[in-house]
Amino acid sequence: MPLPLYDIIVGFVLISLLAYLAFKLKALSRSGALASILIGMVILVGSGSWSWLILIIIFFTAASFFTHFKYNYKRGIGAAEAKGGARSWLNAASNGGAAALFAAAEYAVGGDIFAAAFLGVVATAASDTLATEVGLLSRVKPRLITNLRLQVEPGTSGGVTPLGTFMAVVGALIIGLAAAVLGFFDGAVFKVIVVAAVGGVLGSIADSLLGALLQEKYRCVVCGKVVEQPMHHGSKGLFVSGIHRLDNNLVNLTSTFIGAFIGMAVFLLLS
Ligand SMILES: [Zn+2]
Repeated sequence: MPLPLYDIIVGFVLISLLAYLAFKLKALSRSGALASILIGMVILVGSGSWSWLILIIIFFTAASFFTHFKYNYKRGIGAAEAKGGARSWLNAASNGGAAALFAAAEYAVGGDIFAAAFLGVVATAASDTLATEVGLLSRVKPRLITNLRLQVEPGTSGGVTPLGTFMAVVGALIIGLAAAVLGFFDGAVFKVIVVAAVGGVLGSIADSLLGALLQEKYRCVVCGKVVEQPMHHGSKGLFVSGIHRLDNNLVNLTSTFIGAFIGMAVFLLLS
């Protein structure tokens, strides 16, 4: 059902205010705030329902909270989200782009299948964010998901800890419970929670696997560390492994799609 014009106007004002607030609180950069307004409007108008947008706001609030939780400690170990935890348009687009796409698909086609995909996307993003941001505080060193005998530095893509893995489950369940309360799938609570939990946890495992196996890695010529961006300490590093230009944002985008497809598959299995 298309959203009434009144709701669209109220939505635009609300989304703009929230984006401005997130910008002022340094949770979003200027470009991240503008991208978020666009993504928010596509989700609101596409889904034709407030509940999709509210779920995204719940995700973003939780993500910002956990990103800033013990931020100075994370910065101290050199693993805090770049740019003071403020997410740029690329970061917003790689986290919200898939969500917006499925909202547009819902607008064009309809039916709960794209709501399942959307749940998979948001649950994957929540799982991944909570696992990363809380996992960084783990007292045990992360181990590489593809070789658990190998310890890696905190913040390394593909590094996993028991605490982070637990938080991946918590992140997916928060989204599942919130979506159930918001009335996704006409209140089929069990279905909503299973779609979000399985989609989110498997999506974030896919994120770790892609991070370990395919994400580009460079060795800094100054400090000798293996890092995930070409530039470190002001000079271009030597390419070590992975696929050129497959950076963290692309890994995020790919894993949210994997979470979406798993969400759709679980939805169909339970139908
Ligand atoms: Zn360096």
